[in-house]
Amino acid sequence: MNQSVPLTNLQTRDISSVLHPYTPIHRLGEIGPLVIERGEGVFVYDTQGRDYIEGMSGLWCAGLGFGDEEMIDAATEQLRTLPYYHLFGAKGTESAIELAEKLKEIAPVPMSKVFFTSSGSEANDTQVKLAWYMNNAKGRPNKKKIISRMKAYHGVTVMSASLTGLPYNHIGWDLPVDRVLHTDCPHYYRFGQDGETEQEFLNRIVGSLRDLIEREGPDTIAAMIAEPIMGAGGVIIPPAGYYPAIQALLDEHDIIFISDEVITGFGRTGNWWGSQTVNMRPTTISTAKQLTAAYAPLGAVMVPEDIYQAYVDHSKQIGTFGHGFTYGGHPLGCALGVKAIEIYQKRDIIGHVRSVAPVFEARMKKLTDHPLVGEVRHCGLVGAVELVADKATKRSFDPKKGVGAQCAKFCEENGLIQRAIVDSIAFCPPMIITEAQLNELFDRFEKALAACEAWVS
Ligand code: PLP
Repeated sequence: MNQSVPLTNLQTRDISSVLHPYTPIHRLGEIGPLVIERGEGVFVYDTQGRDYIEGMSGLWCAGLGFGDEEMIDAATEQLRTLPYYHLFGAKGTESAIELAEKLKEIAPVPMSKVFFTSSGSEANDTQVKLAWYMNNAKGRPNKKKIISRMKAYHGVTVMSASLTGLPYNHIGWDLPVDRVLHTDCPHYYRFGQDGETEQEFLNRIVGSLRDLIEREGPDTIAAMIAEPIMGAGGVIIPPAGYYPAIQALLDEHDIIFISDEVITGFGRTGNWWGSQTVNMRPTTISTAKQLTAAYAPLGAVMVPEDIYQAYVDHSKQIGTFGHGFTYGGHPLGCALGVKAIEIYQKRDIIGHVRSVAPVFEARMKKLTDHPLVGEVRHCGLVGAVELVADKATKRSFDPKKGVGAQCAKFCEENGLIQRAIVDSIAFCPPMIITEAQLNELFDRFEKALAACEAWVS
């Protein structure tokens, strides 16, 4: 916040009462809060009436933008009919049944059952518990470790934050818990060694996963979890051939592959699922965010029939399947999930993503000439621009300088909301964005980048 401008009443009240997630809270009064009042299409407006293009769909989730009348009508109708019910103790609701059926229809591999949660973190937490439950059911009580990757983001509950591979989710939080192993991040630009080709890099990191599995013992490892494209780690797209190579290792050792499609589901990468875009064959899937286009909180885990049968066997012995959340499968979330999928289909949102993706790509590529830009990464309508201190050597800025955060601040001043992931600026605009709006987004970003260049020099 520009301290010469007095804080509004809402900003003052916010500072005195709200604990903000993912915020340097010691500097809250300096950097914000930016209080958002309303949204329309790809724009949000603050309490002063200033417009911002929401270049991140909020938190990678509001894929249909803001104020969609069909979504609002679906929510209103559901609230009138049944504002709350649950699925515990063999209860059901029409919206949960319909959404589970629709998810099975569009799943990238045959799925048998859908378990609903309220968030992506709960979905991934559930995945781990289900993997443990399955292996107990199969009489393999030692097969419990979960492999994740450095820079992965899988959420913030105790287990999902442990799966996450980012320092600020571990340091100071007594995490990760044991049974979680982190393997290499598949980012060639950052982790490729001097003189190493992309193929050599790929061979090295797949070899290191093989070593990890052998060292730990395949009989102790239940699952590997991966975002098809890493989101909050910096929008990292692995080299071609990465997933098939990993898949072969996991198959060899009977390790299930959990696809965390919380960001990449529902058209974001130009296909229904990110796993389809990157040639990954999941055993089970986590989803949330664009599942309801963020009009209500909801997450889901999809599992295939053979795995479901293991739960049934175990439930026979134990008596009940002891897992579930009060708001998992909330009728409002499920009704909005059904409506969102219907809209994605009837408005051909995936076709739209594919048709505007070349503009996204072209404007991203144009940024590579900028002196601060080390690498641009993009797929469908998700991407990132990595800012560097030295293009030739790929040297990063001193993290204490906070260049990414400052660049995001300049975006805000230019009417654009982007997210800084250390020094990468992430892009994930609502999937309904038009070509003209995409160009406007990048015009605003270029102004922010120019301000950032002047600021660093
Ligand atoms: N998985 C991925 C890939 C995510 O990007 C996120 C959130 O950004 C999560 C899981 C956690 O989801 P939630 O914030 O709904 O708990």
